[in-house]
Amino acid sequence: MALITKRPKGTADVVPAQVYKWHTVEKLAAESAELYGFKEIRVPTFEDTGLFVRSVGETTDVVQKEMYTVTATGDSQFTLRPEGTAGVMRAMIENGILNETFPQKAYYIVSCFRHENVQAGRLREFHQFGCEMVGTAAPRADAEVISLARSVFDNVGIEGVELNINSIGCPACRSAYQKALKDYFTARKDCLCGDCHKRLERNPMRLLDCKVPECKEAGKDAPLIIDYLCEDCKAHFESLKKDLDLMGIKYKVDPLIVRGLDYYTRTVFEFIKDGLTVCGGGRYDGLIEELGGPATPALGFGMGLERLISVMEKQGCEFAKPYQCDLYIASMGESAAERAMQMAAELRGIGYYAEHDLVGRGIKPQMKYANKIGAKYVIVIGDNELSAGSAKLKNMNTGAEQTIRLGEKFAEDFETIHTAECFESVDLGQ
Ligand code: ATP
Ligand code: MG
Repeated sequence: MALITKRPKGTADVVPAQVYKWHTVEKLAAESAELYGFKEIRVPTFEDTGLFVRSVGETTDVVQKEMYTVTATGDSQFTLRPEGTAGVMRAMIENGILNETFPQKAYYIVSCFRHENVQAGRLREFHQFGCEMVGTAAPRADAEVISLARSVFDNVGIEGVELNINSIGCPACRSAYQKALKDYFTARKDCLCGDCHKRLERNPMRLLDCKVPECKEAGKDAPLIIDYLCEDCKAHFESLKKDLDLMGIKYKVDPLIVRGLDYYTRTVFEFIKDGLTVCGGGRYDGLIEELGGPATPALGFGMGLERLISVMEKQGCEFAKPYQCDLYIASMGESAAERAMQMAAELRGIGYYAEHDLVGRGIKPQMKYANKIGAKYVIVIGDNELSAGSAKLKNMNTGAEQTIRLGEKFAEDFETIHTAECFESVDLGQ
């Protein structure tokens, strides 16, 4: 029988010793979003396949090649979400959130699934921190959303992430552009891959997103959308740039950004580090209507958390320390072990992290374990300590020992000593 101890290709485990990194980014990202007035939204992992086909776009790589579509006997077809926006917009329509005051602001941390070629920075299950702002067409909202994404990078402490922006216009200016693109690429049809032949007929802008080197080369001198913007879209883009300047947010205009999803209109942006897009987003003014809701402008971004963590690791950013054991209670003999169990529970009751022996080990291996988990304090109790009603509490950092009462006063004594020594070490700047 084939081994079932291997995870599927393109997925990752986060082992307990590493999970503090995830806790750190999840907390800091959520904190940034809350400071901008975003509230968390939680939606299902799978949705009707049609939702993604409609929103992400039939001609995109995501829909054409990358969706994980599942069926259960006798049920309809569902797809594991390849991105977060579509499900969140579906939920906003379904729950009547669009009848409430605007703008509505929601964030989420979700896993996404895409059947991609696995390589550095590209997984089949990955995680996104996403933010969506609904109900405003004002360019100031675009600046706000970009500023929020930027603030996440600042909050986690990474540097050198570059912001590129572009405008891909509205359906009005885009039709002239699509035509110009079609003419341009039709003249170079012989150099294009099979997929691009189809794209040329159905959605020429997707050609600019093709990863095949020959197609990239053929697109080198392609017309630029920015030269085809209508007056309104031009003014919108100018206002956004002005607001970014006012906020001191540095950016570059990259006229080649088109993004891989069909629902974008006007502003699109990417935050890039070391050649990888850590965050991508933009405006999608037509999406809600396309999904059957009232015409409502909206925008947002998705930030890849694996990529974010990997940049943080490379830059030596600080992650919040995992919980550290406050006290390990080592015991000799059954009566002491019973008391250790009760003492650990008492300490946890007042918010300390305490452990005791659960394996039935002797003192030496218990001490080894206490060291391994990095316990700040250790106490050893046996029959002598039980009958004396007190024991030695050892500070594992300094080696200092103090007497601590084991009876009713135990938790109180521990708290007093712990608090005093915490202050001391702060005073010493340790
Ligand atoms: P890329 O250009 O790298 O393929 P994308 O344009 O497909 O990215 P989006 O769909 O906008 O990306 O998703 C937003 C973010 O999610 C990306 O910027 C990236 O950080 C992350 N992301 C997308 N696909 C993957 C993947 N397969 N593995 C890991 N992270 C991903
Ligand atoms: Mg992609």
